[in-house]
Amino acid sequence: MRSILHCDLNGFFASVECLKNPKLKNVPMAVSGDPKLRHGIILAKNELAKKYGIYTPETVYSAKKKCPNLVLVRPHFEDYHKYSKLVQQIYLKYTDRVEPFSIDECFLDITESLELFGTPVEIAYKIKEEVKNTLGLTISVGVSFNKIFAKMGSDMKKPDAVTVIDYEHFKEIIHPLSVDKMLFVGKSTTATLKKMRIDTIGDIANYDVNKLVKKLGKMGIELYRYANGIDNSEVAFFDTKRNPKSISKGITFPEDISDVKKLIDVIIKLCEDVSKSLRKDKMKCSSVGINIKYNDFSVISRQRKIFKTDIFQDIVNVCIELFKENYNNNPVRKITIGLSQLESQDDEVQLDLFTLQTENEIKSKNGKLENINRLVDDMQEKFGVDKVSFGNVIDKNIN
Ligand SMILES: [Mg+2]
Repeated sequence: MRSILHCDLNGFFASVECLKNPKLKNVPMAVSGDPKLRHGIILAKNELAKKYGIYTPETVYSAKKKCPNLVLVRPHFEDYHKYSKLVQQIYLKYTDRVEPFSIDECFLDITESLELFGTPVEIAYKIKEEVKNTLGLTISVGVSFNKIFAKMGSDMKKPDAVTVIDYEHFKEIIHPLSVDKMLFVGKSTTATLKKMRIDTIGDIANYDVNKLVKKLGKMGIELYRYANGIDNSEVAFFDTKRNPKSISKGITFPEDISDVKKLIDVIIKLCEDVSKSLRKDKMKCSSVGINIKYNDFSVISRQRKIFKTDIFQDIVNVCIELFKENYNNNPVRKITIGLSQLESQDDEVQLDLFTLQTENEIKSKNGKLENINRLVDDMQEKFGVDKVSFGNVIDKNIN
């Protein structure tokens, strides 16, 4: 049994701004894009602003309606990177398995550190206190036996808190939660599950896995595994060269665009390009991300883990879902699609028995898509890129 922590800095950007200017601690404040723009977005808020129900990413306009005295500060990313590194240095005192997940989140595998530093919970508290005492920043920590539950744990109590989801109790804690609380479950998957009368994570855990796969493809087996506490993904060593070959592609528009259908067309095109590069390099990715840069220079960056793939349809579906969930109708200046956690297809990890059983069912469903993808690659090679595309089969309606 492993011991894994997920450490999440609370209101990170806002906390750093409050460190730089302590007066900001005593007023409701948020870090945002250009406050002059009606649709500038809130990137982070302090605890006082949170009490007004302000959330990220909501528009400045709507936040100001909730709290007219809200103080807005523009972001200073260099400071955030500096503090992010300082926090990681503290984590590294406790283990060399520290895997950054974003600028304010890290996974830590402390299995090998227990003899030196105490129980997982003791270590979680030690790290939390050390970050607070040396840097003046608070974190919330999830303690569990896998990465998924550690991450869900750090989300349950914040700020400045530790939540334990151990093997003995995970069913009591996780199973009553509604499905949309499950990591990586977006709006459209939630809707599909609700139609199947699956409301809680416990319902997923107890559902017929074959039926889940029929409805949701790979996502079905992934969710089934997570709901049952099976997530063997490792926490990388800190010095691992991360994503040396991560693939990304972006387009800066000559004029800002706010037409959803046009933006989705761009996303489709970018996904075609990146998935094609992936297949060309004989790689598969297990993380997909979108980066939306608005005309006020505020940026929304979202990532989602997916089952290892090189198929265009898998990638574009996630990207469009991320876009629909996060787009705030602001004019967009640039969109970037990124694929990371790449693995070459030759050194695919040995699958465990459970995965092998259902793998075959997935293969028959996905085999067709794989063939279609290769076919399109070949046709583009022969007839030119513009002549052949998947674009017209995608649902571009925003709901
Ligand atoms: Mg955070």
